[in-house]
Amino acid sequence: MSEQNSAQSAVTVLGLGPMGRALAGAFLGAGLRTTVWNRTPGKDQELVRRGAVSAPSVVEAVAASPLTVVCVVNYDASDAILRSDAVTDALKGRTVVNLTADTPGRARDTADWAAGHGVRYLDGAIMTPTPTIGTPAGVFIHSGPEEVYQEHRPVLEALGGTHTHLGAEIGRAAAYDIALLDIFWTAMAGYAHALAVARAEGITARELAPFAKGIGDILPAIFEQTAEELDAGTYPGDGNPITSAVSSMSHIVHTSEAHGIDAGVMRAAEGLARRAVGLGHGADGFTRIAEILGRR
Ligand code: NDP
Repeated sequence: MSEQNSAQSAVTVLGLGPMGRALAGAFLGAGLRTTVWNRTPGKDQELVRRGAVSAPSVVEAVAASPLTVVCVVNYDASDAILRSDAVTDALKGRTVVNLTADTPGRARDTADWAAGHGVRYLDGAIMTPTPTIGTPAGVFIHSGPEEVYQEHRPVLEALGGTHTHLGAEIGRAAAYDIALLDIFWTAMAGYAHALAVARAEGITARELAPFAKGIGDILPAIFEQTAEELDAGTYPGDGNPITSAVSSMSHIVHTSEAHGIDAGVMRAAEGLARRAVGLGHGADGFTRIAEILGRR
């Protein structure tokens, strides 16, 4: 962003949890006039020391900038902040970018509210942790009207990282977020379970780590290779049929339960694989389960 642009640009950040503080800090670092507000006072002190303007109320915060970025715990919280009559009036003709994580349905509901009150609205999600904000490693996804996105893109890009506009359908960024977090949290549940089973077998997390990373490294090629197969409706299982996966998964359940460790997550995954076999898809690859889950 040029010096002239950044001098003219102003942005408001509502919500100063770890992520809101990181966002406001990155805007300040990029030279933008940054106004901040948080429900609980006091979280803006470091930002104010760096030049942020602390607004005494939400109304004053949103009135200070053409663009307001919201980042709070969920949409119940962002609704509580935005949907009072006074704030809605102050937002008329201005733009809100909601980087709070929640469901696609909540994003669509907020877009309906915004459209009904003359508020311009973009939805978004942040796919990387706070230390990445303001660095090339940040990943942001956005959805909503293209012209609104293009207008505010220079300010959003002051957050660093990559910004992808996924389309005009307002729920799309949240839908990507949900799908990606589905991968993340099921993987983390598997990792936590693996650590417990490994420990019960006398293996430390440090000893397991290099091999655990190796398992993580296998996944990108699988995502890449199976994407086209899935979109084409094919699920080749030549190298690793579901029958083989079921056998491998049952070993994990048995080892885990022999140590008295809850194997509920793996039992659920094994149950899906057994269902695929029962439906006659035992020779297919594991991604057949995506198709089965999607059946109505
Ligand atoms: P939290 O998810 O804990 O959100 C904290 C913020 O929410 C605070 O500003 C808090 O205000 C506010 N808040 C909570 N309830 C209310 C309410 N009823 N009314 C008004 N404000 C409320 O922390 P983060 O900052 O880390 O996360 C913010 C968003 O960013 C979340 O949606 C999260 O999923 C997303 N995100 C976070 C990442 C991270 O690494 N932290 C990574 C990617 C996305 P108060 O201080 O007053 O309690």
